[in-house]
Amino acid sequence: MARELTEVGVVGLGIMGAGIAEVLARAGLSVTAVDVTDQALERGRAHVETSTGKAVARGRLDPADRDAVLSRIRFTTAMDELAVAGLVVEAVPERLELKTSVLATLDRVCPPGTILATNTSSLSVTELAVTTGRPGRVVGMHFFNPAPVMKLVEVVRTVVTEPSAVEDVEALCGRLGKVAVTIGDRAGFLANALLFGYLNSAVSMLDNGHVTREDLDDAMRLGCGLPMGPLALLDLIGLDTAHEVLETMYRQSRDRLHAPSPLLTQLTAAGLLGRKTGRGFWTYAGPGSAEVVPDAQTPVAGSAAQGARPVQVVGVVGGGPLATALAERVAASGLDVTAVADHAQLTGLADADLVVVAGGEEPAVERALFAELGRLTRPGTVLATTSRAPVVQCAQASGRPADVVGLHVPGPAPAELRVAEVVTTVVTEPDAAATGHALCDRLGIRSVSSADRAGFVVDALLFPHLNDAVRMLEAHYATADDIDAAMTLGCGYPTGLLELLDGIGLDVALAAQRQLYAESREPGLAPAPLLEHLVAAGHLGRRTGRGFRDSAGRQD
Ligand code: NAD
Repeated sequence: MARELTEVGVVGLGIMGAGIAEVLARAGLSVTAVDVTDQALERGRAHVETSTGKAVARGRLDPADRDAVLSRIRFTTAMDELAVAGLVVEAVPERLELKTSVLATLDRVCPPGTILATNTSSLSVTELAVTTGRPGRVVGMHFFNPAPVMKLVEVVRTVVTEPSAVEDVEALCGRLGKVAVTIGDRAGFLANALLFGYLNSAVSMLDNGHVTREDLDDAMRLGCGLPMGPLALLDLIGLDTAHEVLETMYRQSRDRLHAPSPLLTQLTAAGLLGRKTGRGFWTYAGPGSAEVVPDAQTPVAGSAAQGARPVQVVGVVGGGPLATALAERVAASGLDVTAVADHAQLTGLADADLVVVAGGEEPAVERALFAELGRLTRPGTVLATTSRAPVVQCAQASGRPADVVGLHVPGPAPAELRVAEVVTTVVTEPDAAATGHALCDRLGIRSVSSADRAGFVVDALLFPHLNDAVRMLEAHYATADDIDAAMTLGCGYPTGLLELLDGIGLDVALAAQRQLYAESREPGLAPAPLLEHLVAAGHLGRRTGRGFRDSAGRQD
């Protein structure tokens, strides 16, 4: 039976510690909150007051309960006062020597049974535990920012943690209204291990000049329904913290995809750490502000569509949901639409100014279509493909490659038409690409520019992210439910990664991942063997009733 904790402590009342103190007090526990100076205590108290004030304003907390919550937190600079606590969470800055010194003090002050929990994001809990005289009572208790809002807590047990300490912490998480995911001590734990590979790849993509800052964040936010783009998220986390997490992950994995991208290293070295310093990838109204303000990198509005060819008649080829949605959107925009579901009717497209092939055809069929469209349509007609395959293949097949662009609608729900990638090949004329952007503007679709690389922008980041989740499952580090909970409850994703894979189709994901690997030859992008095996077994996800879960929601 888990022990019920009533007296607890928090050390370090910064962004995380103040939030953790609030969470503990709101669950009725008596909290001793420690920081080094009176000023830091005041800042921590103000943080809790503002946060609980907001909860009252939103109707989530009764005003009387708010007073009770505040009265349950005793603010002090005296570590000795933690002697009463059954559990203490340390949330001091992420420096090994600082954390070991705080833990040494706690070890001295607190009774031997007190559990010492660390909120570290990147240090090894094992390494911290063994510096104390009670390694069996040291655990990781990794909250997510903002702690009062995010439901996930990663409970990290080491090889020496006593089971009763883990049980007590899990039970406490339940009382706090949190979902505890208990995992071993691996770099990045669960959520960050999945998140930071993706974030680092996004920075590399920006650094390579493959995509602009604006396009990258909007493509991921709109294409995948994420709460924010990867660069905005890095700015929120803090670039120094992100750098540290990646370094730790790289040391353990030796996967060069985890080696911090040079741009991240440079921004960190320059002290451009994100929101907290007022500038990172984006520029903010001031240090600590969430308001993005224009800077030298901000593009001129509408510049991508400048020089577009005139378009009045749009042809849409294909009979699936994407083609239907596109045709409807074109009609609603006041342009003329010629929708062709049957390839025998292609002659109807002779007077089109732009034709979008949205049929989801096999590459060979798609190429044959482009050859025919190249003959049938007027010179200067822009030909666009929504296919994932290299655009240059359709361009060559058409006989007039300068007029061909990709118009890929990425993400798990393409028919919603929130964002489109306008893909240019090495031979695309700039005015053909501008025409693609202008059409999107007219249709109310956010268009982003991409070179003709495997995965364009969104798929190149999304599929490796999904593949990493499969690898984690394959390594038995966490269950499918825990992996999905980490991203939804810890990072605010609308859907867990494995659930997303079941929805997209494992075969689709495997094909995309193979394409990425074939182009990059990057070992870290090789498809996870488990993904290969499930596809070979015909477990393709929701479509076949079985993937990572079966149709009743059971895990495989
Ligand atoms: P922070 O810099 O905002 O706060 C740290 C606080 O610790 C400050 O108030 C500081 O005065 C206090 N402090 C410093 N030395 C101390 C000492 N010797 N004794 C008592 N207090 C001391 O840092 P943060 O962002 O809240 O991060 C704290 C920890 O939480 C780190 O380990 C970090 O990796 C982890 N974490 C951070 C996030 C995040 O998004 N910021 C998320 C999860 C975990």
